Amino acid sequence: MQQGQSRQWGIIQKQTGADRLTLGGAIGSNIHGRGLTSKPFIGDVEDFTIMLADGTTRRCSRSQNHDLFRLALGGYGLLGVVTRVRLRLMPRTKLERLVQIVDTDQLMGAFDQRIAEGFLYGDCQFSTDTPSDSFLKKGVFSCYRPLPADAAMPADAKELGEEHWRDLYLLSHADTRRAYETYASYYLSTSGQRYWSDTHQLSVYLDNYHEELDRRLHAKVKGTEMITELYVPRPALASFLDAVRADFRQHKVQLIYGTIRLIEKDDESYLAWAREPWVCTVMNLHVDHDADGLRKAADDFRRLIDRAIEFSGNYFLTYHRWASRRQVEACYPQMVEFLRLKRRYDPDEVFQSDWYRHYKQMFADQL
Ligand SMILES: Cc1cc2nc3c(=O)[nH]c(=O)nc-3n(C[C@H](O)[C@H](O)[C@H](O)COP(=O)(O)OP(=O)(O)OC[C@H]3O[C@@H](n4cnc5c(N)ncnc54)[C@H](O)[C@@H]3O)c2cc1C
Repeated sequence: MQQGQSRQWGIIQKQTGADRLTLGGAIGSNIHGRGLTSKPFIGDVEDFTIMLADGTTRRCSRSQNHDLFRLALGGYGLLGVVTRVRLRLMPRTKLERLVQIVDTDQLMGAFDQRIAEGFLYGDCQFSTDTPSDSFLKKGVFSCYRPLPADAAMPADAKELGEEHWRDLYLLSHADTRRAYETYASYYLSTSGQRYWSDTHQLSVYLDNYHEELDRRLHAKVKGTEMITELYVPRPALASFLDAVRADFRQHKVQLIYGTIRLIEKDDESYLAWAREPWVCTVMNLHVDHDADGLRKAADDFRRLIDRAIEFSGNYFLTYHRWASRRQVEACYPQMVEFLRLKRRYDPDEVFQSDWYRHYKQMFADQL
């Protein structure tokens, strides 16, 4: 629609790692991207229309049906079906990627410096090479700074193709040292490349990539990666990573991939996960899909939440339902009231999910 216009608009943020996701899902989970100074998605939403359990629609914003606005944003679809969203956009901006290798002990200082220099986006992809000194210590720190509107945009940027990704996935399971080295050298070779602020957030996701991996690795049971997100106060990052490093080595956790990003405080949504301006650690763990493997994964994910809680942190409700009741109560003390409010808007429980039924059962004694 905007082709040929000199000033174009684009999204501020989306999820990284996958693209076939909806705006309804972004609202349901109150998602975030890799903005250096962004709040979760609620900060990008001007208003939305929701269809309630009785079939009527409501427009929700900060000045209209505000209670519903803050409940449904990050409310996992339990209040109704969002049918229309009005987003706050930003002018599409040309960006330059700058890449350096950092020590994660120094990362918060490096983030502060990039923000002070006017960079808009960034994250740090850390080493997953468990036996080495670089494990969770070294990372590829890529940040994006705005360029003038008339900056040239070369047509042929270097990009990792599908085959490269497949090989990297294999290395990240079979040779973690080479995986990190390959990743780091590729990223360093793209330092100085130019991108658009919206499309640089797109990424390749290879459907069912693990089936091929299982074959190449001669795996005895089906495997997948599972993602999780932990948040801690920014000054606690290095100590949190130290604790995770020791835990992963002790419990032989197979970390496949991970990044560190920043998030600003969400002081609006009811089930807010960004209760503070946190530093966010995203981790993909390998999971074997047999009884022992699934049990181990649940334990590993629970211990990660405990590590975050030890540093007064939090976790993302989105990815799995393995948090214990104690952990949910510590991180989301408003959960029971959220479930009560859901039933006030939807007394017949028209809108349900396995997510809903799980928490309803967990807190049945209080509901
Ligand atoms: C590979 C991968 C990478 C990811 N990276 C990130 C990331 O970088 N940042 C991040 O924040 N998250 C990330 N996620 C999580 C993902 O963003 C969320 O799970 C997101 O909600 C998925 O969107 P979806 O459209 O698939 O929604 P679904 O998974 O279909 O739904 C998610 C929730 O939203 C609700 N919902 C869906 N549509 C509507 C609607 N129209 N109205 C009301 N509620 C609705 C559903 O009931 C459900 O509770 C990632 C997930 C994957 C698989």
